[in-house]
Amino acid sequence: MIDLRSDTVTKPTAEMLSSMIQIPLLLGVGDDVYGEDETVIKLQELLAEMFGMEAGLYCPSGTMTNQIAIKVHTQPGDELICSDNSHVYKYEGGGIASNSGVQAKIIQGDRGRITAKQIEESINAEDIHFPTTRLVCLENTSNRGGGSVYDFEEIKNIRKLCTEKKLSLHLDGARIFNALIESDYSAKDIGENFDSISVCLSKGLGAPIGSVLLGTKEFIYKAKRVRKVFGGGMRQAGFIAAAGIYALQNNIERLKDDHANAKKIAEVLKNKSFIKELLSVETNIIIFKIISPEKATHFQEYLKQNNILCGKISSDQLRFVFHLDINDAMVNELIEKIEMYN
Ligand SMILES: *Cc1c(COP(=O)(O)O)cnc(C)c1O
Repeated sequence: MIDLRSDTVTKPTAEMLSSMIQIPLLLGVGDDVYGEDETVIKLQELLAEMFGMEAGLYCPSGTMTNQIAIKVHTQPGDELICSDNSHVYKYEGGGIASNSGVQAKIIQGDRGRITAKQIEESINAEDIHFPTTRLVCLENTSNRGGGSVYDFEEIKNIRKLCTEKKLSLHLDGARIFNALIESDYSAKDIGENFDSISVCLSKGLGAPIGSVLLGTKEFIYKAKRVRKVFGGGMRQAGFIAAAGIYALQNNIERLKDDHANAKKIAEVLKNKSFIKELLSVETNIIIFKIISPEKATHFQEYLKQNNILCGKISSDQLRFVFHLDINDAMVNELIEKIEMYN
């Protein structure tokens, strides 16, 4: 199977599996609800250090790290600002409302990216009629935006605005390493500009499970309480956290290969008459529009018959996501199958 539905479908390699035994044996595991799992502590420290943040919190999923951050930054009745395409708004089951009692003011972004100017226009004035604007959430790269990468100048402008307006700024960095590989800013640059960051280990980095929330010590202390309430406190979690440590040490640089593969396939797709629109490829995601919904279904079905799976994100839009389980032979096979279709 050539599975391009998501970069979450990767399976641990033999080396990663072996590290999941070796690292905990070396560092130790324990009850992480008691804060006694040395392997989890190590993973949290590694990421906090990379981003220059004070502390980290290991959680089962990126949805949980985002939702915890929203809950810690807000009070019921508050409003947050995010892109109409953002994961927190679109793909977390209405958690903004159900977990935090917060409502979202959504901004139409450019491929999931919003600007300081747009945010400024969306901040509510101080008036008892209006919900209090409390938080801004950015996503980098933007999933629904086809893996688009934020410009650092814009991030800095947004940070400045949030500081001025006393708003918290959260980053959904499920694919932050994809962004870092393609941009001129570093993990520390990102850490300096956000109050909290969610990083996924189970996307392009290839770990089976886990996300880490980063922030100040005080923020992470509160986040730990919310994680318990959400049912995300785990016990000897070091065995899975170890895969995250392995991923950080081995799978960041190679994200370039996924980006190169995505660009290569986009070149092939670009010339096809059944494709109406193809978002320029910035990282590991290709989103493209087919001339009709029927044709989109047909193409997806054709690929499936050839053992190639892809995602359908709207009636006429398909998505290919590249990851570490897609090798060169698979890319060539994919090119061949696309060339044969018309
Ligand atoms: C995948 C993803 C998440 C979190 O997903 P989980 O499946 O809950 O780990 C958050 N944000 C974005 C942009 C994502 O793509």
